[in-house]
Amino acid sequence: MSSIESVSHETRVFQPSADWQRSAAIGGMDAYNALCKEAETDFEGFWARLAKENLQFGKAYDKVLDESNAPFYKWFTGGELNVSANCLEKNIEAGLGDKVALIFEADGGEVTKVTYQQLLGKVSRIANGLKSLGVKKGDRVVIYMPMSVEGIAAMQACARIGAIHSVVFGGFSAKALQDRIMDTGAVAVFTADQQVRGGKQLPLKAIVDEALAMGGCDAVKNVIVYKRTGADVNMQAGRDVYMHDLTEKQSDVCAPVMVDSEHPLFILYTSGSTGKPKGVQHSSAGYLLWAALTMKWTFDIKPNDVFWCTADIGWITGHTYITYGPLAVGATQIVFEGVPTYPNAGRFWEMIQRHSATIFYTAPTAIRSLIKACEADEKVHPKSYDLSSLRLMGSVGEPINPEAWMWYYKNVGGEKCPIVDTFWQTETGGHMITPLPGATPLVPGSCTLPLPGIMAAVVDEVGGDLPNGQGGILVVKRPWPSMIRTIWGDPERFKKSYFPEELGGKLYLAGDGAVRDKVSGNFTIMGRIDDVLNVSGHRMGTMEIESSLVANELVAEAAVVGRPDDVTGEAIVAFVVLKGDRPTGEAGQKLALDLRNWVGKDIGPIAKPKEIRFGDNLPKTRSGKIMRRLLRSLAKGETITQDTSTLENPAILDQLGKPL
Ligand code: ATP
Ligand code: MG
Repeated sequence: MSSIESVSHETRVFQPSADWQRSAAIGGMDAYNALCKEAETDFEGFWARLAKENLQFGKAYDKVLDESNAPFYKWFTGGELNVSANCLEKNIEAGLGDKVALIFEADGGEVTKVTYQQLLGKVSRIANGLKSLGVKKGDRVVIYMPMSVEGIAAMQACARIGAIHSVVFGGFSAKALQDRIMDTGAVAVFTADQQVRGGKQLPLKAIVDEALAMGGCDAVKNVIVYKRTGADVNMQAGRDVYMHDLTEKQSDVCAPVMVDSEHPLFILYTSGSTGKPKGVQHSSAGYLLWAALTMKWTFDIKPNDVFWCTADIGWITGHTYITYGPLAVGATQIVFEGVPTYPNAGRFWEMIQRHSATIFYTAPTAIRSLIKACEADEKVHPKSYDLSSLRLMGSVGEPINPEAWMWYYKNVGGEKCPIVDTFWQTETGGHMITPLPGATPLVPGSCTLPLPGIMAAVVDEVGGDLPNGQGGILVVKRPWPSMIRTIWGDPERFKKSYFPEELGGKLYLAGDGAVRDKVSGNFTIMGRIDDVLNVSGHRMGTMEIESSLVANELVAEAAVVGRPDDVTGEAIVAFVVLKGDRPTGEAGQKLALDLRNWVGKDIGPIAKPKEIRFGDNLPKTRSGKIMRRLLRSLAKGETITQDTSTLENPAILDQLGKPL
């Protein structure tokens, strides 16, 4: 069976310091290995112990794992709990009522701090407001809101009454919103009059009106509008209500509704990088367990930490590492509204300095864009800020190119902060493969080792194990508590997408290619399986060639795709964004030649792009991921007929559609 060839080799290794090994939740590789062993010898016992230590059930569960209807796995069956009470009352009862839960910084810089006690009051008033509108357990509620305390509170309020939320990112169009409202059959929509991004006021309520007017959303009885800017918006009598009007007369006490462990907590659509977004359904108990546990294991969260995850609540990262994980463990976290480049590209560094953030978690796309901005302007370079409060940094969303990793490590972390490169997905609910800051030797560009209890492996096209050193398909061999339960309303698609018959029907298919290091066993993600290149019989992932391009000092970002070729079967086409301006004409031709030779020298002639195109940007999903499937069409000279509902910047397709 043909595996995926690894064509580059990263040799830099950064060992955890003695301090880290001493103080971390999982200190040293021996502690990590012991946990893995515990999971292997007594799988259910392992998860039972962790559930006991991390969750508060209202009614005890009977069974840890029910595999009778696999792959529709059930966890902690028969148990009952409330996720919101596990995030709020649990901490207040432990004495954290006056601890700051949220430090919210708005687009204009205004800061609001909310304690656990205050958050409980807010969440309860919204929950009571929902109840007064007739929203009940099992109903779906769409949340189309800006980053705000209210957005997080609305999610928690749904959890409190057992309503199932589905957050839709505030940048999505009316059509994409309508799709999700229809697919979930939502009875209510939370929104705001407007949102503010980079100093601009953008409509939200008007887009909700447009979506509802498109039809098919008859289940929606109410629209709840948070007043963000005070702009005039259309309020339809009997349907629309301002959040403050709905909640101000409500009691700040709302008894949490106990739900079954498997009760759906939320539905969230994937980013749409590889196709039409899938509505991923998550559970209550298993999901929350992993959200809390990964806060402790991966982020080593401690009582005095100031945690900052820069994601939007519209993405899974914002669900697990803003709304649920940090609150479940009683942490203080920063939440921000806006964009990393406003009022200038120093916003992240300034905010770390202002709020003394200790843990910082962001995406490679943000890092690459800030590298580009810093090279142009010293003033917004991280070295112009005091970032000494940081002790740990993370990356999520895409593979991080080793050179971007090194830049992050040196310039933001001052060579003293470990980087946790966390591989996971909307479907996995939380981290899967990631370094542990007190244990794992770090290797730039590698997500290193699976968390204890996560049975990740690399297999061939029929599900057979591949030896270390040979790239293949990334799978997970055993279920885990926070895994996707089904695709909302489409169990057949769930089975076909994630437990395909070709692999034997029992392995969870992540959709990514990976290779394990021969010595350390470290995993490196090679790119999406859909994007694997086949040049003269050599099957290669996209990641290594892209990383080689990014290692050139002129290059900020790169994406490679394959195009049918008479001679080589497939030829590599690279789309490149420079740190400086986009070159055209002869200058472009010359640089394209230089970059081809660069890759040829760096990883070998086989990986040399046949064609290079320069752009001001790459087509990205609204969550910041490169959409290579669109580039594949452009490279072939096709017009694009695929799903582009999650594409952020359609205008770039024109520019990239033309050869140099
Ligand atoms: P769709 O499933 O609709 O195509 P998507 O896969 O981009 O969209 P997400 O669930 O947001 O949707 O992203 C998960 C994917 O992101 C992973 O499958 C992987 O390709 C990529 N990813 C996330 N974190 C990392 C990481 N640390 N290293 C490498 N890849 C990562
Ligand atoms: Mg995916």
